[in-house]
Amino acid sequence: MSWGFGQWIQSKSRSVRLAWFPPACLLCRQPAQQHLDICTGCQTDLTAMDACCQRCAEPLAQSHSLCGRCQQQLPLFDSVFAPYLYAQPLTQLVTAFKFKRQPSAGQAMGLLLAEAVAIAVESGELSLPDCLVPVPLHPWRQIKRGFNQSALLADDVAKHLRQMEMTVPVAGSMLQRIRRTRPQPGLSLVERRRNLKGAFSLKGNPPRHVALIDDVMTSGNTANECARILKQAGCEVVQVWVAARAERPK
Ligand SMILES: [Zn+2]
Ligand SMILES: [Zn+2]
Repeated sequence: MSWGFGQWIQSKSRSVRLAWFPPACLLCRQPAQQHLDICTGCQTDLTAMDACCQRCAEPLAQSHSLCGRCQQQLPLFDSVFAPYLYAQPLTQLVTAFKFKRQPSAGQAMGLLLAEAVAIAVESGELSLPDCLVPVPLHPWRQIKRGFNQSALLADDVAKHLRQMEMTVPVAGSMLQRIRRTRPQPGLSLVERRRNLKGAFSLKGNPPRHVALIDDVMTSGNTANECARILKQAGCEVVQVWVAARAERPK
């Protein structure tokens, strides 16, 4: 995974920075928290997921029901764990991570997701999978972007979970994207589904239970296609863990 020397320094020198410069919040530049590059005010401003579809976490007016799309056809993944709604100010964090290549924004998202997972596991709402599987990018897109945000997120989530005595390995190359797809935004729901057909392949045999990792889930089609490949190979349970759930485009 290549971040470039500057980003490597930025990522590895956290302890030095903390000692010499008080960290600034990634979102508002006020003093951040010691363990997270976001201030307590901005963390409170993140919109926690409330009522949503039990299966795909699509935001709904009422909880404990299925969204219209899941009522018509259930997705192939079994559940979605998304602690936050994809809304301001979290959208800023995603942009900083994916498009401005700020590793600290990705690390903050990893910690936010891992903390939410740990709380859900402790309360029995979520069970730990046998491994974390990042949603892959096509190699050309990864070269262009310089990294795969899902793979970095999976590594960070695994690291934080391990620190909380919840060890889950990352199967970083289990899923591969073998066909280039058009960027999903701007495509209709039908086009999105067609766009992803045959886009992924699997290396090796998946374990019984996996959690797919991605930064944001929008239509759910990418996760569905990954779940299809995993289940065809014998995987029984596919959870999807994302930092944020966006409302599905109408
Ligand atoms: Zn802030
Ligand atoms: Zn649904």
